[in-house]
Parts: sequence; C-alpha cells; structure tokens
Amino acid sequence: MPSKRKISTFLTTRTAKLAGTYLAIIMLMSVSFSVIFYNSTTRPLNRPAPSSDVVSPFGQRAFLDSQVQQVIEERFAEARQELTLRLVWINLSILVLGAGVSYVLARLSLSPIEEAMEAQSQFISDASHELRTPLTVLQSTNEVALRRKKLTLTDARDLIEYNLAETKKMKELSNTLLELLKDDSKEATFSKVNLQDVTSEALQSIVSYAQSRDISINDKVQPTKVRTNKQILAQLLGVLLSNAVQYSDNGSAITLKSKVVANSVRISVVDKGIGIRAVDLPHIFQRFYRADKSRTNGDSPGYGLGLAIADKLSKKINAKIDVTSKPGSGSTFTVVLPLKNH
Ligand code: ADP
Repeated sequence: MPSKRKISTFLTTRTAKLAGTYLAIIMLMSVSFSVIFYNSTTRPLNRPAPSSDVVSPFGQRAFLDSQVQQVIEERFAEARQELTLRLVWINLSILVLGAGVSYVLARLSLSPIEEAMEAQSQFISDASHELRTPLTVLQSTNEVALRRKKLTLTDARDLIEYNLAETKKMKELSNTLLELLKDDSKEATFSKVNLQDVTSEALQSIVSYAQSRDISINDKVQPTKVRTNKQILAQLLGVLLSNAVQYSDNGSAITLKSKVVANSVRISVVDKGIGIRAVDLPHIFQRFYRADKSRTNGDSPGYGLGLAIADKLSKKINAKIDVTSKPGSGSTFTVVLPLKNH
C-alpha cells in the first residue's frame, strides 16, 4: 500500500516532469514564433538596397551609392541586433513566467489524482485495520485455547462457534468493502415502479432482525409512482432501516413513511433510538466513521460502512439523504427522490 510520503514523493516527481513538459511546449511555441517573426520582419532588410538616383557632376555616382549602401547596411544590422536582443529578452521572460505557469498547471492537473490516491490509500489502510482487529482476536483466542492442558468438548464447540461467528463477520466486511469498490461508471437503469413495492422489499430484508429485537415497524408509505432503480432504492432503504433497528432500544417502534413534496418524494425512516450528536452528524457518511462506540448496541457493532454505501447508492439514483437527529430522542433519515428521474 502506498504510504502518504510515497504518494507525495511520487507526485512531486510527476509534477516536475509534467511542468517540464508544459514548459517545453510553451518554449517551443515561443521560440518558433520568435524565429518566424524575426524572419518575416528582417526579410525586407535583407533585400539589396536600390541604387541611388543622385547624379554627381563629377561622375561619382558609384562612390555615393556604396556609401549610402554602407550606412543603410549598418542601420539594418543594428535593427537586426536590436530585434534579436528584444526577442531573447521576451523569450527569457516567457521562460521564467512559463516555469511558474507550468508548475501551477501541473499541480492543477495532478491534484485530483493526488486526492484519489490519498482516498484509496486511506481506504486500504482503514480496511486492513478493520480486518486485522478480528483476525488478531481470533488468533489469540485460538492460541490461548491450544495452550490449555485440557480442552473439553464443550470448550472446543464454543471455540469453533466463536471462530465461525468471527469468520462470518469478516466475510460480511469483505463483501461490504467490495460493494464500496464496485465499478461506479455503469449508469443505473430506471423504470416506473410503485413506491410501496420497493419499500416492502426493503422491509422484507430487515423484518427478522427487527423481530429479534422486538421492534415494530409502522409502514405508512403512499402508493406513489416513481421512476427509479428498484433494487438500488430497496438496498438503500434497507441500510437505513437496519440502522434504525440497530440504534433503537428493544421493544421500540420505527416508522417508514413517504410524502410528495414539489417534484420529489420524501421517504423517511423515523426511529426513537439513541440519536446522533451534532458533532457526529457531519461525519456519519464517511467510510469507517462510527459515532461514540460506547453508545451503540453491542450486539452488532458494525464497521461504519453502511451509510457510506447508502450515500453511494443514493447518488446512483439521483437522490439525496437528509438527516435530523436528537441524542436520546431518535433520528430521521429521509431519502429525497426526484419524481422525474432520467
Ligand atoms: P455502522 O456500521 O456503525 O452502523 P453506518 O455507516 O451505518 O455504520 O453508520 C455510521 C454511524 O452513524 C453509526 O456508527 C452510528 O453511530 C450512526 N448512526 C447511523 N444511523 C443511526 C441511527 N438511526 N441512529 C443513531 N445513530 C446512527
């Protein structure tokens, strides 16, 4: 994995190379232009001067001609020299200015690449960290078990069960990571669907989880026709519903509702759970961000990737997610979906 320092060294070399190329192009154009300008300006000066029409009474016409010619040629030489000097100065100024402009242009061209590389590096580092933690726990649990002189069948079963549960979690994590890395370039296909069909698909995916926590879900979604990608919207709502269950107390209630406002439909997941503090709100869509871990339910701690995926999915269907939350009172996540989606 490229470290931050490696990325910065790589980009400094690239910037220098790119700036050099830009400068070479600028100078090539400037020098070519100067040569063309010099040639076209001095061409008339290179033509032989017309002979003088002055007729000397002593027949000294040839002598006068050569003198005039000499003066003219001296002036022409001076003019050529001055022009050369000016063009050299102009080119030197362009070289200095061009170096600055080339550097700025190179930085501008490379900065999106730099950002992408840093984001990639951060992602890999976070992902490795998330995978290493359960692996370390697994390793030490197994080592401790092996060191024990006697391991009863029950102990062994417990250990295997624990190992399986951890392996399952890691598999889920790697699937989630792959989901985040999936190619974004493919455009989602849209079709006209009944919103209720989409929400019932999303509800299906979390109904057993909600039941296991004795959480009821009030479905108040209107039968609105929307143009969207059904799978993506259902997956997105599934993430929000699953979070609502996860961050609510056992036995509480969640509401799923919809409302048409202007040219969009607002689909809200309302919970009465632990809520999100104002300081955490701006960060919850960042990959691996988890608000104060001690406040979350211990049974399924999560990896802080759900909302990053939800955000990515919402962009694919031209939707946006609004959040309002009050610690201790609950949260409302609203998907704002345009009714006329292309
Ligand atoms: P996680 O796997 O931790 O749930 P998410 O990306 O889905 O990751 O959410 C990021 C963080 O946002 C969570 O750790 C949690 O602190 C907070 N969060 C998300 N949804 C809710 C909710 N409905 N109620 C309270 N907190 C929430």
